[in-house]
Amino acid sequence: MDNIKVIVNFLENRYGEKIRQHVSRFNTNIFQILVWAFLSHRTRDERTAIAFNKLFSKVKTPADIIKIPTRNLQEIIKPCGFYRVKARNLKKLCKILVEKYKGKVPKTREELMSLPGVGYKTSAIVLSDGFGQNYIPVDSHVEIISKRLSLVPQKAKPYEVEKMLEETIPRNKWHLINLGMIYFGREICLSNYPKCNICPLLKICPYGQKIGIKRFQKLTI
Ligand code: SF4
Repeated sequence: MDNIKVIVNFLENRYGEKIRQHVSRFNTNIFQILVWAFLSHRTRDERTAIAFNKLFSKVKTPADIIKIPTRNLQEIIKPCGFYRVKARNLKKLCKILVEKYKGKVPKTREELMSLPGVGYKTSAIVLSDGFGQNYIPVDSHVEIISKRLSLVPQKAKPYEVEKMLEETIPRNKWHLINLGMIYFGREICLSNYPKCNICPLLKICPYGQKIGIKRFQKLTI
């Protein structure tokens, strides 16, 4: 079996159910997918969930968010990192959705990335999870793990990582990569001290064999 197959099978078997549960949380509400992805930037899921649930207990649509005074919106989404900037951008974003897109979330990458605070990763999440288009959102977990597993060159930028992964991984498996690697990055392939000693991918991981396992041994001495 080639390495890509091993990695994809591993993510599917270990995290497939969690991924399905995460995606079903939004009940195909694309505006909620956008807001979740927007709020989750540099914020852990648990913190994002607190802000997200609080916000959607008060609002349903972009028009509702525009009506909330910025200070109040900051309070609501305070569990998230950079909540002041996010509150300002979220209001601007919602205003554009209402005025330019009749309150709907646009469907193209270009349109999404023209919204305040929406970059490559957020737009890819909306397009893949919301519109069922094929994209691989690249966050820090995806980038680090892809480099450790030598799926992409060490110096690749996030948008290059996205392109290269999309060229290598079969299209019908793209939906597993972002969330699968996020869960894997939290459980085993931690950013600072990956647990290579217990990693099922050690056999195919150049970083783990050369560096990771030694780092871990030093830690435990
Ligand atoms: Fe990450 Fe280590 Fe596993 Fe490689 S062997 S994927 S570095 S945890």
